[in-house]
Amino acid sequence: MSPPRHPWVVGVDLGGSNLRVAVYRDLGAAAAAARTAGRALAQAPAAVIRRPVGSDRSVETIIERIAAAVRDVLAEVGASPVAVVPVGIGLAAMLADRRGTVASSPHLGWRDVAFGPALARRLGPARPVGVYNDVNAITYGEFGVGAGAGARDLLCVFVGTGIGGGLVVNGALAEGATACAGELGHVKVAWGDDAAPCNCGGRGCVEAYVGGAYVLARIRRELAGGARSLAVDLAGGDPAQVHPGHVDAAAAEGDPWALGLWTELAPLFAVALGNAITLLNPDRVVLGGGLLGRTPTLRDQALLALSLVTPPALLDPVSIVLAALGDDAGIVGAALLADAGVSLA
Ligand SMILES: [Zn+2]
Repeated sequence: MSPPRHPWVVGVDLGGSNLRVAVYRDLGAAAAAARTAGRALAQAPAAVIRRPVGSDRSVETIIERIAAAVRDVLAEVGASPVAVVPVGIGLAAMLADRRGTVASSPHLGWRDVAFGPALARRLGPARPVGVYNDVNAITYGEFGVGAGAGARDLLCVFVGTGIGGGLVVNGALAEGATACAGELGHVKVAWGDDAAPCNCGGRGCVEAYVGGAYVLARIRRELAGGARSLAVDLAGGDPAQVHPGHVDAAAAEGDPWALGLWTELAPLFAVALGNAITLLNPDRVVLGGGLLGRTPTLRDQALLALSLVTPPALLDPVSIVLAALGDDAGIVGAALLADAGVSLA
């Protein structure tokens, strides 16, 4: 990571329903301190603005909303209008290049939009803009001031609704040719006609087995089909209310159906993760996301399986830890990336 650069830096999280804009003071110095300490030093922003994205998702409207929020949040802290303040934006999108051209963003309904260059023109030269894939921004946030602080080679894996991943190699975010590096969710763990179909259009992706939305659908399907489990009691007796946390608690109690499901899924996740570790040889792995956060039994089983599918020479040096920054990782990571001048539009 580069040394401290700018006294103020802005992070933007452009989600499906909310626009969050935060301004940080001396974030580069904070990241340097976290790296030296080798541990998370979560940073509170000096000011935050949260507004609805709104129903008009046209690129022109979104750019105006971001520009207004950036102006307002900087006015709140009294930053000079002419001082250079980098603006980093994380969004759930496939990018087409490293200048912020969006190939597709289902949340925003965008296809082939030159978002980064247009926003950079609107904000002007005192507000250099970087546009990042949301998982890459989260990864860099955890690397900078979170659970990855002090690592050199970092693999972050987030299992929420789907599965996302990001890589830091030799201290720099590895975005790949078109900023899609680290798409661990679409690594194949099965092949053939009976491999599970994935939202990406492929089959046999690890996400199609272990992604939260798929796990939940399978739980509901099997319980509706007559499977009996302690998880139903834990959910108050209604099979339609069972979520993965209930299944995890049931598995911890030795419930046969819950244990069977976890015993099937844990090795699939472990194979994808173990192959990534074998390819990348990271010194740290950060695990996060809504599903892994609430399923300690599944996590333990996956780590056990990981030890069976990963060569010791690669697994022994890895420290595997849980993400530290929660919902703030992406916004702080986007700010850090823009501060370091990574992939500016
Ligand atoms: Zn897929």
